[in-house]
Amino acid sequence: MRGPQTSGPGGAAGDPPGSGHPPRGRVTLVGGGPGAVDLLTLRAWRALQNADVVVADRLGAVGVLDDLPATTDVVHVGKAPGHHPVPQDEINRIVVARALAGAHVVRLKGGDPFLFGRGGEEMLACREAGIEVEVVPGVTSAVSVPGLAGIPVTHRGTAHGVHIASGHGGLDAAAIAVARENTATLVVLMGVSSLSTIVQQALRAGTDPATPVAIVENGSTPAQRVTRTRLDEAADVATRAGVAAPAVIVIGGVAADGLLGGARDGRLAGAGV
Ligand code: SAH
Repeated sequence: MRGPQTSGPGGAAGDPPGSGHPPRGRVTLVGGGPGAVDLLTLRAWRALQNADVVVADRLGAVGVLDDLPATTDVVHVGKAPGHHPVPQDEINRIVVARALAGAHVVRLKGGDPFLFGRGGEEMLACREAGIEVEVVPGVTSAVSVPGLAGIPVTHRGTAHGVHIASGHGGLDAAAIAVARENTATLVVLMGVSSLSTIVQQALRAGTDPATPVAIVENGSTPAQRVTRTRLDEAADVATRAGVAAPAVIVIGGVAADGLLGGARDGRLAGAGV
C-alpha cells in the first residue's frame, strides 16, 4: 500500500520520477467508533492494517493498536494522564510531514472524524500540502452511545429529529431552542463539565423541567454507565453520581426510562456491552 501516488479521488500528483524527492505518501482519516474495537468498521480495520504510521488519540478504539503489525509506527497525540494533548497545529504538522516522507498515514480518531473531531482541519492541512486524503467514516458516539444504552435518538411519536450539539461552555441558541420545543432529541457531546450551565440555559428558556435526561458515560466499554434523571435535577444527580467525561447527554422524551421496555440500567436484553 505504499509507494508513489500519481492520481486518485481528489488526489494530488506525486513528485515526478527523478526529482530527487522521496515518494509522496497519503493520509487516511479513520473514524474509530466509540471505543469497543468491534465497533470499528471493516474499512477502518483494513486501513489500520495497511498503515505505515498510525497517529492516534488516547480515547476511542485504542485497543486496536495492540493488533497492528509490529512494523507500524504509532504516534500518540491524545490526552493521557500527566500529559497535555498535542496541539492541533502540531498534529497537522506530524501527519503532513510523515505523508510527505512517503508514508501511508492513518489518523485514527474517536467516533466519526467529521463530528466534533477536527477532521475537516486535518483534511485541509493535507490538501494544502498536496497530499491525497481519504476519509473512513466512523460510528459516532452521538448516536451509538445512546443506542448502546437502549435509547433511540428518534422514536415515532416521541422525537421526529435529532440535534447534536457541543456542550463545551454551554449551549448555543439553536440547541436551547431544540430543548424548549421538545419535538426533537437534543444530544450533547463534551457537556459534562458545563452540565449545570446547560440545565440553567434550558430551564430559563422555558423547557419543561420534567424533560427526561439520560447521561451515558464510557459507551461501549466495560465502564459504560447510564444515569437517568429529569432536567431540573440533572446537575445535582450527575454530581452525586460522580458523572465524568466522556459522556453523551441525551435530553428529550427518548431519554425516559422504560421507553423501549428495557431494564433500568438501560441495557437491552441480549445487547451486551
Ligand atoms: N468525533 C467523536 C466526538 C468527539 S468529541 C464522535 O463522533 O463520537 C468528544 C466527545 O464525544 C466526548 O466529550 C463525549 O461527549 C463523546 N464521546 C466519545 N466517545 C464516547 C464514549 N465512548 N462514551 C460516551 N461519550 C463519548
